[in-house]
Formats: sequence, structure tokens, C-alpha cells
Amino acid sequence: MKHILIAGGGIGGLSAAISLSKAGFSVTLCEAASENRKTGAGILQPQNALAVLKELGVFEECCKHGFQTEWFKTFDEQGNLLFQVSESFLDDTLPGRNNILRKTLNDILMKHAKAAGVNIKWGKKVVAYEETAESVTAVCEDGEKMKADILAGFDGIHSAVRDIMLQKETEKEHLGMGAWRFYIEFPDFSFEDATLMYKSGDTQIGVVPLAEHAGYVFVLQPCTSDYWDEEDTRFDRVKEILSGFSGLDFVTKHMSKEHPVMFNKLEQVAVHEPWHKDRVVIGGDAAHAGAPTLAQGAAMAIEDAIVLAEELKNHDDIKTAFHAYYERRAPRALKVQNLSSEIVRRGLKGEPGAEELIGECYAVLREGY
Ligand SMILES: Cc1cc2nc3c(=O)[nH]c(=O)nc-3n(C[C@H](O)[C@H](O)[C@H](O)COP(=O)(O)OP(=O)(O)OC[C@H]3O[C@@H](n4cnc5c(N)ncnc54)[C@H](O)[C@@H]3O)c2cc1C
Repeated sequence: MKHILIAGGGIGGLSAAISLSKAGFSVTLCEAASENRKTGAGILQPQNALAVLKELGVFEECCKHGFQTEWFKTFDEQGNLLFQVSESFLDDTLPGRNNILRKTLNDILMKHAKAAGVNIKWGKKVVAYEETAESVTAVCEDGEKMKADILAGFDGIHSAVRDIMLQKETEKEHLGMGAWRFYIEFPDFSFEDATLMYKSGDTQIGVVPLAEHAGYVFVLQPCTSDYWDEEDTRFDRVKEILSGFSGLDFVTKHMSKEHPVMFNKLEQVAVHEPWHKDRVVIGGDAAHAGAPTLAQGAAMAIEDAIVLAEELKNHDDIKTAFHAYYERRAPRALKVQNLSSEIVRRGLKGEPGAEELIGECYAVLREGY
């Protein structure tokens, strides 16, 4: 039985751990963090993400702990409805979308990985690896070494495994947008069956239901590549942006410092070289991190995980399996990623055509993987 070491316990790494373990491999997962995430905002799961969650065997649990919507409604800053679109684009038997707290999703995936027999090691940041013809040995920051037949880098946009494998520091393209995200509770407001988006100029604010009276808010606004919003100024910055939207008074009045505001700059990493070399392979954001405009990052990472397990099960030879994985995954994931980023680029230039790009993405997603 091949032993596979996964670097990274995010959505991609945990999905890979579950898929590989179910395919009959022995799996150890090394996560850099010392414990499972405690906080975090929400994550939107469109229909194709729900289809892959079904394959992983976690769909029902994600829906039970999430909130399903059928519509995506867009408003102006005063709260006037501009238009609404159905979130169903793939399968009428699935909800249009599920929204879930990242921590809850991670907990569900972690539980299933453990049940599948995955050995999970916390506080193990992979910083180097050594290879021979027979094995690969990952070196962790604390000096521990772990030997395996395969090392799979699902270690996110700043992937160390990828950079060691490609022997270079991979360039991250700044997409010109900052993203602020926070969790919020609304005792006097009830979500119905829609995810809400408010737009004014180049600012977009999403209000995403996670339960009838709770949700998560994301704010997208242009920022330069050297901009950074420190933790202690984020709350006031976001409140100031929201105060320009009278239609969002129901949000602003319930903002509380109890729930931290996260800030990221939107960046893209697109690996066009093969995603594998010798006994090492990468997937998820390590290979294709993009803008969250189409909410596809997690679905693409989970698809990578499932396909990697399928190809390793289908081929005894590692090189053949990795090549088949790359051939199946790279065109689709990089296309979806590019469409997601293009929506941001066009928006910043004030160019129309986002609907066309969304339609193009749905056409790709309908093709299957
Ligand atoms: C603002 C924003 C909003 C988003 N919203 C959505 C959304 O609504 N829907 C959606 O589908 N996607 C969304 N995404 C994208 C999504 O978060 C990512 O595509 C997805 O999390 C990728 O999963 P991953 O496992 O590849 O990487 P990550 O989730 O980044 O996980 C990587 C893991 O590896 C660990 N790690 C890092 N380095 C090492 C190392 N050297 N050794 C060991 N462990 C390591 C990290 O601690 C982390 O746990 C969003 C992204 C952003 C920036």
C-alpha cells in the first residue's frame, strides 16, 4: 500500500485525505496550524461544489449545518432591488447554493478524514523535502522528518511544496481588490431564500446567510498592492464603507467588535508548468488560487482531490497517475480561475460583460470533470 503525505489541512488537503484514504492509500496529513481553526467567515458553495461534496460523502452534513438559498439578489446602495438571478445552473435536485461557516466545513471534513483513518498531525509546517528514487521525505519546521511514497502539496496560495518543486518563488498577481469579511448576527432580521449583494461604484458588499438570523458579510473595494489594513483599524474602516449604503442599515447597526474582521488582498497564482515532479504533486490554491468572484476555489480544490485519488488508484505508476491528474485538472481549474479574475479586472476598468463570463464559467462547470 502506498503511503501518501499531504501538506496542508485546508479544504483541499482534507478532501484529498478523505478521497485518498477511501481509495485504499495510507495517509498522513501535516497541518502548519497548531489546532483546528477557531474563527473565520463563511464560504459560498455553488451547485457544482455541492455535487463534489456528495462524492466526498459530506453533502447532507454541510447542508444541515449551512443555509441554502435559491436566488442571488443585487441591490443598489439604498437597498432597491436591481435584479435577481436563480442560483441553479447545474442540477434541479440540488439546492441553488449552500453557505456555511469555514470552521464548520473544516470540522466536518476533519471528522470524515479521521473516520477514514487519516493520521492528522498539527503544528507541522513542511519547509523542505528530500527525494530518492524510492521515497520522499518531508522536513517540518520543528525538524521532524516524515517519509512517504508521495508528497501532495495542498498548502495554499503561499505553498512551500510548490515553490520547492518548481525551484522558484512563484509570482502572485495582485488583482487590485481588497476583501474584508466578518461574521454577524441579526436578531431582528430574517434571511429568506437569497444571498444578497449591494453595489455602488466599484464597491460591492455581499450579505450571505448562514442561518435564519446570522450571516457573513464580505466587502470588496479596490486597493493598491502595498495597501494593508491592520487588525485594529478594520472594524472602523468597514463601518465607514457600510455607512455609505443606507440599504445596509440592518447590518451596520448589528456590527460588533466581538467578531473579528478579516482582511485579504485578492491575489492570483496560476501554475502553468506541470503540477508534479517525481514523487511530488500539488493541488488546490497551491496550483490555482484566484479571485472569489465565482466562489469556485473550494470546489476546484475538492475536484483536484477527487481526481488525484482516482488517477492514483487507476495507475500503479506514479508518473502516469500524476500526468493523467494534471491533464484532467489543469485546463478546467485554470479556465475557471481566469474567468473569476477577469470579472475583477473588467469591473475595475468599468467594462461590462461579467454576466457573459459567469455564463462561460457555468458552461465549463456543466461539462463535468
Ligand atoms: C476573500 C476570499 C473569499 C473566498 N470565498 C470563497 C467562497 O465563498 N467559496 C469558495 O469556494 N472559495 C472561496 N475562496 C477561495 C477558497 O478559500 C480557496 O480556494 C480554498 O480555501 C483553497 O483550499 P486549499 O486547501 O487549496 O488552501 P487553503 O484553504 O489555503 O489551505 C491551506 C492549508 O495549508 C496550511 N499550510 C500552509 N503552508 C503549509 C505548509 N508549508 N505545511 C503544512 N501546512 C501548510 C494552511 O495553514 C492551511 O490550513 C475565497 C478566497 C478569498 C481570499
